[in-house]
Amino acid sequence: MTHSLILINPWIYDFAAYDLWSKPLGLLYIAGFLRQFGFRIHFIDCLDRHHPGMLEDNQFRAPKRRPYGTGKFWRMQIEKPDRLKHVQRPYSRYGISISIFERELSEIENPVAILVTSLMTYWYPGVREAIAIARKIHPGVPVILGGVYARLCHEHAMQTSGADRVVTEADPEVILKLFNDFGIEIPQSINDLQPRPYPAFDLLNKNDYICLLTSTGCPFRCRYCASHFLSPLLEQRDPHEILDEILYWNKYLGIRDFAFYDDALLVASEDHMAILLEAINRHDPDLRFHTPNALHAREISYDIAMLMRRTGFKTIRIGLETSDFSIHKDIDNKISEGDFERSVSNLQRAGFKASDIGVYILAGLPGQSVDSVLKTIDYIAGNGAVPYLSEYSPIPHTDLWEKAVEFSEYDITGEPLFQNNTLLPCWDSSRKREYQGLKDRALAVRRL
Ligand code: SF4
Repeated sequence: MTHSLILINPWIYDFAAYDLWSKPLGLLYIAGFLRQFGFRIHFIDCLDRHHPGMLEDNQFRAPKRRPYGTGKFWRMQIEKPDRLKHVQRPYSRYGISISIFERELSEIENPVAILVTSLMTYWYPGVREAIAIARKIHPGVPVILGGVYARLCHEHAMQTSGADRVVTEADPEVILKLFNDFGIEIPQSINDLQPRPYPAFDLLNKNDYICLLTSTGCPFRCRYCASHFLSPLLEQRDPHEILDEILYWNKYLGIRDFAFYDDALLVASEDHMAILLEAINRHDPDLRFHTPNALHAREISYDIAMLMRRTGFKTIRIGLETSDFSIHKDIDNKISEGDFERSVSNLQRAGFKASDIGVYILAGLPGQSVDSVLKTIDYIAGNGAVPYLSEYSPIPHTDLWEKAVEFSEYDITGEPLFQNNTLLPCWDSSRKREYQGLKDRALAVRRL
């Protein structure tokens, strides 16, 4: 038996996609966990921007790269699914070509199982395509699907993904139990099993940055967010262990850019993030940090802002969502009046410029007016930060789901494609028509 495993991060199928520090961190953790048992891991990242086969193929134009390792993906325009035909925008497969994916799969001999991850619910066509091709090339090999879509839309994934099993637990030991069910032999037993080894970034072709998870879960329960469903408890790692991981990637892969994936990075910072940042400062490596997942405004004290500045934080994102506190009352409790102004002022006093401080606004919430989004854009600008619109995507298992179903003209329950935020699925057509004006306004503020 070869003990070879294939792990696949599938394509994105969407109207737009951008690599903002996007890596399949969960699957990389599973790769790190499973190779301890002697499995030979073949990791196929369909979103690989550095795939040598793509770089050599001159029918594709290399995706542009931006500062700090972000940038575009490879992209090929494809036909829209029937249910999205009405959307007047091109639809694409983001990632490597099908032929390169097939070639990679064909080069792997006698795998014992194929593990596939998933992220956004409405990206499931990419998951289904990857599974169908993997099955064609390796017939009879068990296919196991996990990830966010698999957990949020379990029934749909069981019916349509083509996987033999759809995993709903985040625990990697579940995979070992499934191997047992399929009669897959575990190559070697180990005495000192590391429950959470580093994610296997070394299996990727090239890393421009590393994504870090210093905690899971979030103590808040915003009604539009699935964090409590996916990670019900807040658990924080030992700051010294995180420091070791950062120094490891810096030393062995030469990485300077690190993006935090935490949902609650600064919560209880005196026992966690402050200790980590002080420790990084003592080592004085020349690193840069980014927070694409928003920070909580109420947690940004002047002391933390100073520490972040000294440690090399370059990209700050705050989750404000709206400046209208009558809306906050209905959707979340993560921010109180005055928190936002205080957080921006603390960041500015610590030396961050307006362009460093990006603030997320949720647009397209059920019942939300265009005017309230516009006011939020201007409010952020007035406080010396820059606005970033994020379109609301209705997510199953969130507290706002029922209301989203009620407000949406789409069958968001029966068809995950309709959960796509590009559709603004909970806004009526007149609000949708005004959305471009909001985008233009936010962009104009960012360019000031
Ligand atoms: S604070 Fe952020 S991560 Fe936590 S529940 Fe709210 S949106 Fe989700």
